[in-house]
Amino acid sequence: MLAKIIDGKKMADALLDKAALKIAALNFRPCVAIVLVGDDPASQTYTKKKHDACARVGMDSRNVKMPASASQKEIIAQVQKLNEDERVDAILVQLPLPDGVDEDAVLSAVAREKDVDGFHPENFGKLALGTGRIAPCTPKGVIYMLKESGVSLPGKNAVVIGRSRIVGKPLALLLLNEGATVTVCHSKTRNLAMHTKNADIVCSAVGKPRLLGADMVKAGAVVIDIGTSKEAEKLVGDVDFAEVAKKASLITPVPGGVGPMTIAMLIENTLVCYEERRKRK
Ligand code: NAP
Repeated sequence: MLAKIIDGKKMADALLDKAALKIAALNFRPCVAIVLVGDDPASQTYTKKKHDACARVGMDSRNVKMPASASQKEIIAQVQKLNEDERVDAILVQLPLPDGVDEDAVLSAVAREKDVDGFHPENFGKLALGTGRIAPCTPKGVIYMLKESGVSLPGKNAVVIGRSRIVGKPLALLLLNEGATVTVCHSKTRNLAMHTKNADIVCSAVGKPRLLGADMVKAGAVVIDIGTSKEAEKLVGDVDFAEVAKKASLITPVPGGVGPMTIAMLIENTLVCYEERRKRK
């Protein structure tokens, strides 16, 4: 079998076009503030893509740059300023933050209603309860891709590799909320292949090239590659794409898979924050 490739770029472009029409009809430009602390090159690339997407759909994005030497207190003070800024609808704090800064403390400082990433403890709790209005962008994008590709989730055996607050854990919760039977694997998991071989859907969010080989997936499985790492200056995922594609039914590429969807979901979540704030006024 040669898997069908899920084209994340195409799906994201369609979503951005739809968002642009919606924003044009608002006669108002919602605004997301993107806080970047330090000069990590990967974070600079990601935030640039986010600002570019905002410009493309007609949304305002505020570039809030802080030096790597900024203290936790200073970062929180900046977040609080944005919380109070009437012009700002949504706030994104680009992770990771410099060593020594408590990410939990910073993310908890973001006003719940402006928390575009869904990382605030209250929003994350609601996600776990299945009552949330906002879900973290990358996992939300994965669920969208699965549904848009015609994958029915109720009753499916889904394995998520990775348990971070950004991807693995919220993705597991979203899949559970959709009725999948979910197994979460991580660095302490014994015999990863034993779990993945039984899965109808495997989502890998680790950042280790070729972690998932063809011998680890069952024929016809759906494989979503969220991981990204650099190998010889090339962006690669966790999945041995060439080999796994011979066995899977659907697969995402890296690049051009989950990455563009994360950005599209940021735009969608900003609109959710904007609409919720307007409803309260
Ligand atoms: P992270 O915080 O470093 O988490 C990595 C997870 O992988 C951890 O839960 C870790 O387990 C687990 N892990 C490590 N080695 C493993 C192994 N050998 N077998 C099974 N699990 C293992 O990273 P993250 O922020 O979740 O991101 C994960 C990957 O997704 C990265 O490559 C990142 O660049 C990528 N990413 C892509 C997008 C996108 O838009 N495409 C967005 C976000 C992230 P422990 O918890 O036990 O340590």
